[in-house]
Amino acid sequence: MKLVYTRRYNIGFFGVERFHPFDSRKYGRAWRALGREVGRARNRAWVGVPRPASLTELATVHTSDYLKRLEDPRVLARVLELPFVRRLPAWAVWRFVLRPMRWAVAGSLVAAREALAGGVAMNLSGGYHHAKPGSGEGFCVFNDVAYLVHSLRAESRLGPDDRVAYIDTDAHQGNGVCHAFRDDRRVFVYDAFNPRIYPAYDRDARDRIDCPVPLPADCTGAEYLRLLESTLPGFLDSIARTGRVGLAVYNAGTDVFAGDALGRLNLAAEDVLARDLYVIDQLRTRGVPVVMLPSGGYSRESYRLVANTAVALLNRYASGPSVTS
Ligand SMILES: [Zn+2]
Repeated sequence: MKLVYTRRYNIGFFGVERFHPFDSRKYGRAWRALGREVGRARNRAWVGVPRPASLTELATVHTSDYLKRLEDPRVLARVLELPFVRRLPAWAVWRFVLRPMRWAVAGSLVAAREALAGGVAMNLSGGYHHAKPGSGEGFCVFNDVAYLVHSLRAESRLGPDDRVAYIDTDAHQGNGVCHAFRDDRRVFVYDAFNPRIYPAYDRDARDRIDCPVPLPADCTGAEYLRLLESTLPGFLDSIARTGRVGLAVYNAGTDVFAGDALGRLNLAAEDVLARDLYVIDQLRTRGVPVVMLPSGGYSRESYRLVANTAVALLNRYASGPSVTS
């Protein structure tokens, strides 16, 4: 198990947390919680990020027109759901919000390489599953899932015929990932989501899901885990039957938690942990490498939920030598 983190993930921006339920410093909070609980194991598992993803690199998965439009603060205000951003100079938004996100995108690729080398890796940021090739939304500007899959193929770490299992348990449907891989049938999408919240409008995205698991209103932990256990093993077995699954990307939003401002589901902290361990165990017993991304989480407890899973994974999966790339 490897843990990818840099302090540059943390967004510090004129009190952004007062305008959006997003905890913009949750990555650092999770990192420090891990230090308090399992400091030595955390440091052994730690892998840093050398530099942020460049715009040239991001252009492999986003249209140049979209990247150009991001220079307009009004476009950024809409994507980030922060109306006050439209009155700020673009350079400030780039430095304080988009630059941390570019570090996170790079970190997701670092973590994916580590997963391929050692079996399990977790990035402490990333999981921007609403960003589409030609537009951003839902606080997601750059799609790190599309970026890591594209990059691993370009580096020949994933073969041209290797399959990718994308498993999304964030409360919101991962519409950006569906659009990014709309015509790429080597990527298989499993998505358990609350169908009554954003992005419910996006029917095209939902049609792309190979195994959709729409959750009932106020879904409890017991219901959630029952649905997961009755659908995920069959999904994984069916995609492995006719081809090699080279990698799984696990987009593990903690906004399924009962205290979350946006997810509107009803899982306790121990249910979130049980969910994460179940997904990762299902993949590891099948020999599939897995990279985990924390994705959305909009409560004061989000950082703690991410740290809980990281502690359990550090205890369960030993840390081998790191990739040098
Ligand atoms: Zn979410």
